[in-house]
Amino acid sequence: MRYCSSRGGQDNWSAAEAIVRGLAPDGGLFIPLEIPRVGAQFLNALSAMDYRRRAAEILGLYLPEFSREELGALTQAAYGTSFSAGEQCAPLHFAGDGIAYMELYHGPTCAFKDMALQLMPRLLVSSLRKTGQTRNMCILVATSGDTGKAALEGFRDVPGTRIQVFYPENGVSRMQELQMRTQRGNNVAVQAVRGNFDDTQSGVKSIFSDKALGDRLAERGWLLSSANSINWGRLLPQIVYYFSAYCDCVAAGRLQAGQDLDFCVPTGNFGDILAGWYAKKMGLPVGRLLCASNDNKVLTDFFQTGEYDKNRPFYMTTSPSMDILVSSNLERLLSHRAGPKALAGWMEQLSRTGRFRVGEDVLRALREDFDAGWCGMDEAAKEISRVWRDEGYLIDPHTAVASAVARRLRQESGRKAPCVVVSTASPFKFCDTVLSALGETGDIPAENQAARLSALTKQPVPAPLAELDRLEVRFSGAIPKADMPGAVEGFLQR
Ligand SMILES: *Cc1c(COP(=O)(O)O)cnc(C)c1O
Repeated sequence: MRYCSSRGGQDNWSAAEAIVRGLAPDGGLFIPLEIPRVGAQFLNALSAMDYRRRAAEILGLYLPEFSREELGALTQAAYGTSFSAGEQCAPLHFAGDGIAYMELYHGPTCAFKDMALQLMPRLLVSSLRKTGQTRNMCILVATSGDTGKAALEGFRDVPGTRIQVFYPENGVSRMQELQMRTQRGNNVAVQAVRGNFDDTQSGVKSIFSDKALGDRLAERGWLLSSANSINWGRLLPQIVYYFSAYCDCVAAGRLQAGQDLDFCVPTGNFGDILAGWYAKKMGLPVGRLLCASNDNKVLTDFFQTGEYDKNRPFYMTTSPSMDILVSSNLERLLSHRAGPKALAGWMEQLSRTGRFRVGEDVLRALREDFDAGWCGMDEAAKEISRVWRDEGYLIDPHTAVASAVARRLRQESGRKAPCVVVSTASPFKFCDTVLSALGETGDIPAENQAARLSALTKQPVPAPLAELDRLEVRFSGAIPKADMPGAVEGFLQR
């Protein structure tokens, strides 16, 4: 199994090289030269396994230079104990109308980024050693919220790594800030920066391009890297839960082995749903992949018209992790479907004009696998309230977008195949939106909202969020952007 750039070229790379590099030299994303195929027997065997072993089997198909033993140890370390749902990691909740919710939020930060980020740091360290790199790695992250915390938890105490996260002083929610400032681990640092997210991000970018700083750190044995969301090591672990959901639906008697299963995915960067597409191309009986967007519906328009156009207003919504106008992972899909040459042309147009259009034939090919729809903030709030009232089941605003889109598209098409709605965050991470959707309109102070939601719904606050107020604050204070390089050097001197 070798990897090539989504934008073409003759070169190809091993999996370990692709994971260490992150981006191909021509700016493209790494994609597998061919997608491995599996059959009914493979699925049968998976059914008897827990999540951790399912992950090792599927990863093995893409990572030939990792031994079975090694993958077993890596997946055990990632999924063995850090998910509160136990062996299941990604449990299903069966609701009415043939819909099930796959809960991907039982990891340490209560959001689905954990599914990838609990494993990716370990893949990265093994890949470093396989490519002959002896230096240790320091991960730098600029975050506007969830990714920073998930990366901190993923890299925490992973040997051979350190991680430093920067966030804008007044640009994250109270819960997110508390999650980061109380971060545990001996290899972590968290730093607030005066300014907004763009200042923070450009601060990190200029550290990466500071050659003198890079040389000084290299002399002391440190290599800088980012835990970028387009790294193959972050996409790959996500393929696993599509297989896992299928096995669990069959085991629960909700699906005949071999029958089609649809998935509806709340989408931002297109990573999550693309993993579902890889699962389908590997031979998993996936029917339709429903791509759900919020008011930033650039993908809905793309799947409807063939034109991708990011020149449009940007909305800050109640599902902030989907507030994205450039869905980076779409590049991988288009390269597989239309070839690297056409893709490279579109990416060039996108960076020059902010838009591109694919031909009718390509659009038709994409529609063989995907449907798309979007849902505004009011409709999402109504969906939270409806699902709670009708099903006694609590969902977060991102999941609500997918849930509403799934129901609408199923109604329009008359499709009866069972459908899994991918549930990406705990409702307790978005208490204000969920409370107001449930009709609690009074002003409840931020620090009391989780308790209020818990009392109202009789659902426990997830442990990683409940304990936040009791944890020691380890990181405080804010620095100007100009001091960020010094903060990195100081951290790596310790
Ligand atoms: C990141 C995220 C998404 C979007 O996933 P993509 O892979 O970027 O499409 C949806 N919901 C939540 C809660 C997220 O954190």
